[in-house]
Amino acid sequence: MTEKLGVHNQEKDAPVALCAWGAKREGVAEALALCNGLKHFDPSMRVLIKPNLVAWVDTYPYAPFGVLTTSVVLEEIIKILKDHGAQDIVLGDGCALNKSFGSETHIIFNRLGYNRLVEKYGIRIADFNEGAHVKVKLGPYSLRVARPILECDFLVNVPALKTHELTKITLGFKNLKGILHPKSKQHCHNLEHSIDEYLFHIANRFYPNLTIIDGIYMLERGPMYVGSAHRSEIIIAGRDMFSVDVVGATLLGVKPSEVEHLSIFAKEHKRSLDVNTIELKGLNLEDHVYSLQIQTPWTEDGRMPKIFKKQNVKGFQIPYPRALCTGCTYVFPSVLLLILDANPGVPFDNYELLAGKGSNPSGKAKKTFLMGNCPIAFHKNNEKITEAIPIPGCPPQIGDIVKAFNAHGINADMGVIERYFNSLVRRYEKLGYPKKDYWLV
Ligand code: SF4
Repeated sequence: MTEKLGVHNQEKDAPVALCAWGAKREGVAEALALCNGLKHFDPSMRVLIKPNLVAWVDTYPYAPFGVLTTSVVLEEIIKILKDHGAQDIVLGDGCALNKSFGSETHIIFNRLGYNRLVEKYGIRIADFNEGAHVKVKLGPYSLRVARPILECDFLVNVPALKTHELTKITLGFKNLKGILHPKSKQHCHNLEHSIDEYLFHIANRFYPNLTIIDGIYMLERGPMYVGSAHRSEIIIAGRDMFSVDVVGATLLGVKPSEVEHLSIFAKEHKRSLDVNTIELKGLNLEDHVYSLQIQTPWTEDGRMPKIFKKQNVKGFQIPYPRALCTGCTYVFPSVLLLILDANPGVPFDNYELLAGKGSNPSGKAKKTFLMGNCPIAFHKNNEKITEAIPIPGCPPQIGDIVKAFNAHGINADMGVIERYFNSLVRRYEKLGYPKKDYWLV
């Protein structure tokens, strides 16, 4: 049987449309008309829509602006597909799981009002963390993918317009990682291969039919809630994912040639990374280019985040975490907050915290916190560690991290996390960002 998804879906000369989202939400329809997005669609096809639902916070007030695909863009896409006769539409994704923060896909479906989509348009929703997965050979790797992706005939990829600490951008290519089983997602974060190499092979096998970037917001220092959302009100769409991502990267202020997965793909498939070679329809690209910060700044020696220096935190090193998967990326900002808030004005007694797989102990710390199963395994019997304090979990739960800190003289207080999330809500309220984009209740 011929596979419906895959690199044969590339259309090197297909145009990319850049449109304003519009007061009447007309941006998606305009973009699809301009790029002829449904050229190869026929109503008998089984459609899968893949948004970006990276993670959620349910235990505190949460402002998801720029972090997740908006519900309003998804509704517009569904309406257009229904108008074109689509009978069988599945909306699916699998978020980073974190029980202590309430990050589970079914909770996101509920919070973002997807039941309305089910009732109104007769679509189905699928949690890719649950249900059946199938082992698929992707280049040299063997990874488990959610079954609905193998059963669809027409894949609509709907990432949000975000930067990414590791991969610089998280657009069409990176959004496809969400089709993997949680364990396979973790497997993609290691020291031997870059995450971009995995993205290349996933794209080769599951190249979509249509990519629509939800650019109602752009996210600086993405991909998580610690980034800053900017309301940009644009939609980018095209039948060729590579071209759409080259345009999306340019809009974020990232050179496509500096994005490893785009470079690998360009080399293998003889594609140009020059945005000027793409036929662009709609708005003028230059008028919408931002220059966004990508990474949380770390000190030159990579031993602590710059915010520690700025706030005069002494005696606590956190080397830049390497090979950190989304599970720990999600917890990590809260850990920084706990340390920043603890023991104000009093230097720590020469501590360090290691996360992920590749960050190394200084050899001078009195206590080394090992955040999660990865550093615990990686630094087993490491002679440079004087006293190891393992905090098991994959990812470790925030309550266990607080307990470990408190047991070793760090006055960690969960209250700082709540205050932080409240401050994010206030920040976006001040900016007037509407909750209705996400159908938040
Ligand atoms: S310990 Fe953390 S970084 Fe390692 S696989 Fe688990 S969640 Fe990912």
